[in-house]
Amino acid sequence: MTIVAATGNAHKLKEIRALLPGVRILSEAEAGFTGDVEETGETFEENALLKARAVCKATGLAALADDSGLCVDALGGAPGVYSARYAERFAPADWTLGNSAFLLRRLENVADRRAHFVCVAALVFPDGRELTAEGRSYGSILRGSRGTGGFGYDPVFFSDDLQMTFAEADEERKNAVSHRGRALRALGEKL
Ligand code: IMP
Repeated sequence: MTIVAATGNAHKLKEIRALLPGVRILSEAEAGFTGDVEETGETFEENALLKARAVCKATGLAALADDSGLCVDALGGAPGVYSARYAERFAPADWTLGNSAFLLRRLENVADRRAHFVCVAALVFPDGRELTAEGRSYGSILRGSRGTGGFGYDPVFFSDDLQMTFAEADEERKNAVSHRGRALRALGEKL
């Protein structure tokens, strides 16, 4: 089976390939897709389906997309679907330090640090079939960064499962417990 991974994020592509070993996964570039899909949905599922449908339609191949984000309890689930654009959207105009630093600033005087990552994976086939699956990973937000691996909020997210940050964990360990790992394995089981 050949599936296009509807993501421009090289880290995600690598994780998807590692998590679906029996499947031939093409990057958007390898499948000849150059467009950009706007994430206008209000839920992870809507956004994952938007991306997968667009790439499936443009390439004529089955397309796998994920939408993911970090939900912080004390912030009522924010940044949520806005995780990738959190600082851009909500920080003061002169803010230059990025999403994780902005999150730490928002949580400066907050004792409840609980948070979880959510990922919804969506697979859309040219014949119109659609599959989705959700994965979650629980932990807490530290007061500073630890570790150099991964991407996004990994250095500030202390995983309950791993008892270290996602940025301190090697790829295999992260994939075993991550929201994306759980969502993709659940999707794989539905295939
Ligand atoms: P997406 O590409 O629209 O799914 O955006 C997800 C955003 O959520 C990313 O840009 C990161 O900021 C954050 N995020 C999602 N998954 C992870 C992860 O595994 N580690 C760290 N940050 C993540």
